[in-house]
Amino acid sequence: MNLFSAVPASADQKEYDFLIRGAVIFDGESLRSTHGDVGILGDKIAFVGDAPEGVSGREEINAQGLVLAPGFIDAHTHSDFNPLVYPKLPNKLLQGVTTEVTGNCGMSAAPVLGGHGKQIRSGWAREGVEIGSVKWRTYGEYVRRIEKKGMPGNFIGLAGHGNLRSAVMGNAPRAASAGEIAQMKKLLGEAMDEGARGISYGLVYLPGIFANEEELTELCREAAKRFGVCAFHMRNEGSNLIPAIREAINIGRQAQARIQLSHLKAAGRNNWPLIDEAFKMIEEARLDGVKITADAYPYVASYAELGVVLPDDIYSREDRIDLFRNPLQRQALLEKLRAHYEAKAMKWDSVMIASAKGRRWRKYEGKTLLEIARTTGQQPEEFLIDILGSTKFETSAFYFSQSESVVSQVLEKTYVTVGSDSIADGSRKPHPRAYGTFPRIFGEYVRGRKTLELGDAIRKMTSLPADQFGLEDRGRIRQGMAADLVLFDAGEITDRATYSDPSASNLGIRWVFVNGRPAVEKGKWTEKKYGRIL
Ligand SMILES: [Zn+2]
Repeated sequence: MNLFSAVPASADQKEYDFLIRGAVIFDGESLRSTHGDVGILGDKIAFVGDAPEGVSGREEINAQGLVLAPGFIDAHTHSDFNPLVYPKLPNKLLQGVTTEVTGNCGMSAAPVLGGHGKQIRSGWAREGVEIGSVKWRTYGEYVRRIEKKGMPGNFIGLAGHGNLRSAVMGNAPRAASAGEIAQMKKLLGEAMDEGARGISYGLVYLPGIFANEEELTELCREAAKRFGVCAFHMRNEGSNLIPAIREAINIGRQAQARIQLSHLKAAGRNNWPLIDEAFKMIEEARLDGVKITADAYPYVASYAELGVVLPDDIYSREDRIDLFRNPLQRQALLEKLRAHYEAKAMKWDSVMIASAKGRRWRKYEGKTLLEIARTTGQQPEEFLIDILGSTKFETSAFYFSQSESVVSQVLEKTYVTVGSDSIADGSRKPHPRAYGTFPRIFGEYVRGRKTLELGDAIRKMTSLPADQFGLEDRGRIRQGMAADLVLFDAGEITDRATYSDPSASNLGIRWVFVNGRPAVEKGKWTEKKYGRIL
């Protein structure tokens, strides 16, 4: 796909806005590099090759020894509110990311219809993002508001299924009727007409947890009609990973829709071997014509609200906050939780508190539930009831449930793009993936483990997600394409963010261009906001 090669070469162009000279160019598609110059004019790549004598740039950048790649596309994020909540946060630009796919896992910033602004607010607060009041209703109103505020990088957004479902039927714990599905389809169509690029599902969260295959298929059909993507946070990422993937594939096949499996993983030690069957199913579906890809982040810990550690029947109760705060019910709840975790052989050292609302809980941030139990003498189940009740479930956690080896195997697959899954990026204790994901791929997998070739790693971050999400003018270095570019030192680029120091700066990123303008110069954010909603 190259719609833009037809743009005539500007042979008589004597001066570009920027001329990047002598770079090792990876075009985003080819696994091999070429050596040459790239000229930027306005917001487009105007020249790729050896700049002839007499041609210059108003500003010239000597790229000797550096790699020039298309700006990276973060295929899976929750940055929807970042321009409003953290307006001075360049964490993605400083990784070389120029476009983020937002609105994932069933929860997007828009639309906010049917008076469920409060639900949206508390849903995001449980993940550590304090969004304040929501001042828009439709997707279009959201777009206008954040573009006006200014964006460091570009976004493309998906409409969260949870937003659509809540608007039509609140948190009703049941399947949707045919009429309700039709209403959701209408809302999805409207959001997509205003620029949303598809739909995202969060099938472990409220209210996505209540949707059946028919509802999901019908909504995917609507997205496919408008060439949109259906992104799945699947129903299960552990012992029921295989049926969950089967469901997503079936829906993709029925609806003829492009399917994106979000944060592909096998969670829980006993389930690590399931990844082989998962790969086999995805690869067979691809051979069979299903347009399915996946994204993954290069870390063994996931991040979510602490509440998801609870048994489903407790987590999904509408009165759960009251239940956790009611002293009369405490004993019964405690016994139920103990029995549940004993049967699961729960490992409490795999759950670490990320952040919790209220000063009282701050000292537990960065500690696992096992460590907390040892220091307080309280059982983990008692602590869970206290912290969830006190914070009204507004507590987030890291879950150390994946294997280094499986993460590496997933990232090696040719159909897997890179998605940070970042959220609460500007909070006190974000997941380090919010700061380190993209440089880490180079430091850890290209240079360290040597499981990825440089060109292949770049392809996963550029042309592959651009094709899946229908970004026709991004993800490749070609004349006529948007000038989203990153210039980096391939021998140096790496992450330094950790769970205890999650915002530590990366190494190796030199220049980042967003829509033809320098957003990062010599490794520093210019504090300019050149991003757009695409
Ligand atoms: Zn998710």
